[in-house]
Amino acid sequence: MSKNIFVYCEITEEGHVADVSLELCSKGNKLAKELGVDINAIAIGDKLDNIADEVSAFGVSKLYLAEDKKLFPYLNMPHSNIVSKILQEQKADIVLFGATSIGRDLAPRVASTLKCGLTADCTSLEIGDHYVKKTDTTYKNLLYQIRPAFGGNIIATIINPDMHPQMATVREGVMKLEPLKKKVKPEVIKIDVNKYVSKSDFAISIIDRKIEAQKVNIKGAQIIVAGGYGVGSKENFSLLKQLADLLGGEVGASRAAVDSGFVDHERQIGQTGVTVRPKLYIACGISGAVQHTAGMDQSAQIISINNDSEAPISKIADYNIVGSINEVIPKMIKYYRQNSK
Ligand SMILES: Cc1cc2nc3c(=O)[nH]c(=O)nc-3n(C[C@H](O)[C@H](O)[C@H](O)COP(=O)(O)OP(=O)(O)OC[C@H]3O[C@@H](n4cnc5c(N)ncnc54)[C@H](O)[C@@H]3O)c2cc1C
Repeated sequence: MSKNIFVYCEITEEGHVADVSLELCSKGNKLAKELGVDINAIAIGDKLDNIADEVSAFGVSKLYLAEDKKLFPYLNMPHSNIVSKILQEQKADIVLFGATSIGRDLAPRVASTLKCGLTADCTSLEIGDHYVKKTDTTYKNLLYQIRPAFGGNIIATIINPDMHPQMATVREGVMKLEPLKKKVKPEVIKIDVNKYVSKSDFAISIIDRKIEAQKVNIKGAQIIVAGGYGVGSKENFSLLKQLADLLGGEVGASRAAVDSGFVDHERQIGQTGVTVRPKLYIACGISGAVQHTAGMDQSAQIISINNDSEAPISKIADYNIVGSINEVIPKMIKYYRQNSK
């Protein structure tokens, strides 16, 4: 079995490679080095002139471009046929997709066409061996697809010994974006789109598109003031908003706070929300359940404000302030204002 790694490079509305795809190129590059193989990328769209340049700092050696007006915006049938055929032709061994709405639609279609497995929402990817006692077989250099399972109570390592390619989706922010110091332009392979798709792939056409502007940018925030069930009410969240505004940050939330109607779902951080890595994460009235910490434990500095000194979050926080948010946050606002004049 030849070993090579592919990353599906999702193209944004503005015609750039999506951040999650570049993060996967970074991760794929590390895995490729470990295996001593190449990392390749596939991009599909209508204007792909800049893509080779954009991936050049991420160690991609071959870039397969399917460029055609009719391939933008995303349509599941032609895209999955193009990706599946390239992977088949190139005997791909590992394939990584962003766990975006496009990746979540595309990857299962490709997995179904190629009759292989797919692990969704991986939180870590590693290379390792697997020994099967029954058959006395050792499978070398498999992709360990690691993710929380059973409601986050266990961390499962999933492998596909036989059915390759091994495929995984990963959410934005989970892998680090690590551009290489030296840029190297990949070899560009332009594919003849008409050979990869048929008329019937375009059975569905897009009549109209309405794109709602993104309201919050939690992922891009360097400072996040996140509130949990302990914040107590929607009104109390305005305290967090004041602190976040003062610090130039964003308000985030735990699922319990979202489920209680204190704040919108788009601010939820964790396993079923967004994954963040800010410079500063202030967790207010958040206990630190594994499903929450999975989305924020890579923050550079964590401050917890909690009236329970034993709350699990205290174990990962750099600073623990024991007290009620109603007392602590107004003081933080007051002293920050005083000291930053
Ligand atoms: C499949 C699955 C997916 C999930 N996905 C997510 C997810 O994406 N994100 C997420 O967050 N959760 C998720 N959860 C839920 C998770 O298990 C927890 O239930 C949730 O994170 C708890 O939120 P919390 O810490 O705000 O609330 P609690 O656990 O109730 O904690 C409240 C904390 O506030 C403290 N407190 C109370 N009053 C005050 C006060 N006045 N001042 C200071 N502190 C106070 C308490 O001491 C306590 O530590 C998921 C669960 C499952 C099963």
